[in-house]
Amino acid sequence: MMKAVRMNTISGKTADLSTEALASLNAGLRGEIITAEHEQYAAACMVWNGLIAKKPGVLVRCQDVADVIAAVRFAGEHSLRVSVRGGGHNVAGACLADDGFVIDLSAMRSVRVDPQRRVARVAGGARLGDLDQETQVFGLAAPVGVVSATGVAGLTLHGGTGWLLRKHGLAIDNLLAVEVVTADGRLRRADQRQHEDLFWAIRGGGGNFGVVTSFEFQLHPVGPQVWFSVPMYPLDRAPEVMAAFRKIMGESPDELMAIGVYWSAPAVPEVPVQYHGAPVVILLSCYTGPFEQGEKAIAPLRTIGTPIADLSGPMRWLEVQKFLDGDYPDGGMYYWKSIFLDRLDEQVIDTLSRHAAGRPSSLSSIDIWTLGRAMGRVSETATAFYKRDAPYMIGIEANWTAAEDSDANIDWARKLYQDLREYTRGGEYLNFPGFFENRENQLAGAYGANLPRLQAVKATYDPENLFAGAVNIQPA
Ligand code: FAD
Repeated sequence: MMKAVRMNTISGKTADLSTEALASLNAGLRGEIITAEHEQYAAACMVWNGLIAKKPGVLVRCQDVADVIAAVRFAGEHSLRVSVRGGGHNVAGACLADDGFVIDLSAMRSVRVDPQRRVARVAGGARLGDLDQETQVFGLAAPVGVVSATGVAGLTLHGGTGWLLRKHGLAIDNLLAVEVVTADGRLRRADQRQHEDLFWAIRGGGGNFGVVTSFEFQLHPVGPQVWFSVPMYPLDRAPEVMAAFRKIMGESPDELMAIGVYWSAPAVPEVPVQYHGAPVVILLSCYTGPFEQGEKAIAPLRTIGTPIADLSGPMRWLEVQKFLDGDYPDGGMYYWKSIFLDRLDEQVIDTLSRHAAGRPSSLSSIDIWTLGRAMGRVSETATAFYKRDAPYMIGIEANWTAAEDSDANIDWARKLYQDLREYTRGGEYLNFPGFFENRENQLAGAYGANLPRLQAVKATYDPENLFAGAVNIQPA
């Protein structure tokens, strides 16, 4: 017999879920309910970011769409505050809420590929690695992100940036349809012909509109081999290297996507020992055009003078998608922010280089994402994702391991963010959102003129605001 549980409700009050109510929900599931009295509870409350220590009231481990429908109906009947878990990789731990009701899709990871139509149907709890594994069998890929353990759902619902964004756009730009359980407990298919407003909102509006049980992606031929660049230059050469990086990427084909990273040289045999752990700039890039043209395409990034080490070469797409995995272990401590920039001039480079030199943790990085091209060719009102015109996004990644270092690392990230604000016309990427501590500004910056329409769609599909999303859009 499960014990009654005190829960938060949508109205901000608390309510007790009775033993009978919990037992009746549990009896109808193929999956299971987990509460604090269960052995699995501590593990079920763990997410990627070890800083997060939230204690939800009830977690519903869903096995299938019927479980998701049962969970949403139950939450609606009891007016519970709902959060939804996909891959558990949101830096703010948004998939959990204290005393909340978690609809957990982490066991729903199936991917089915139709190679003729070049379409993948991906379940709501799948990871990027699940998707890549299944699509690469057919020499295909969906544009998603750059670390394989990340959840497809959270990443896609706020846009989705990765190695294919200049050629094929954001993850949402390749979305053909979703199946979503809305607040009324109904499963709906949303695409360009049915529930178009819902489909528009889901492409950037986050988890505010329901539980997405499946995503349908348009796939593209990629790999199996592509060219990947990893030249490393010492930090004191950053002004010259970053100026060249800006010029090279300004003239490069859409097939070349790059992230210039201020980081630390890894202790690997290819890097001379005296540089192990030294601050460096690494020009990561991936060329996904014709294989025989790749070496030439990445060459300019590798020859800005002589790098201290260079791990570049041909690589399998599956390896590219896992290249950074080891740098982001589960349970480490992380605080990530972002800001869109219009320029990468001397002043910006100076600011970035200064803060790179002052990182309290050698694990931390500053990432310059080169945007535009296919991402920028989609109109800012075509999907909810509004910030399409900025040529750069700076990802500020504070990464560390000891709890006593948290304040110093979080302060470092916030200070850099503040110092970059004079170079932006506004806007943050909601997948790198800090702890959403500045919600109103973040919503306005990310959605611009799309915000009123998002609030109207929210009012249609979730008028009671059952789904908090990672960052909540209130119904109009
Ligand atoms: P979760 O924590 O499970 O969910 C986050 C939020 O998404 C939830 O609060 C909920 O609102 C919503 N959600 C999740 N699943 C569903 C669902 N099925 N239905 C409805 N709502 C749902 N982002 C990029 O764009 N590009 C990258 O290359 C990239 N790299 C990353 C690398 C690492 C190591 C990490 C940790 C993050 C990276 N991100 C990247 C950011 C990532 O996109 C976000 O952290 C995203 O929230 C992760 O999604 P998730 O499903 O794992 O998260």
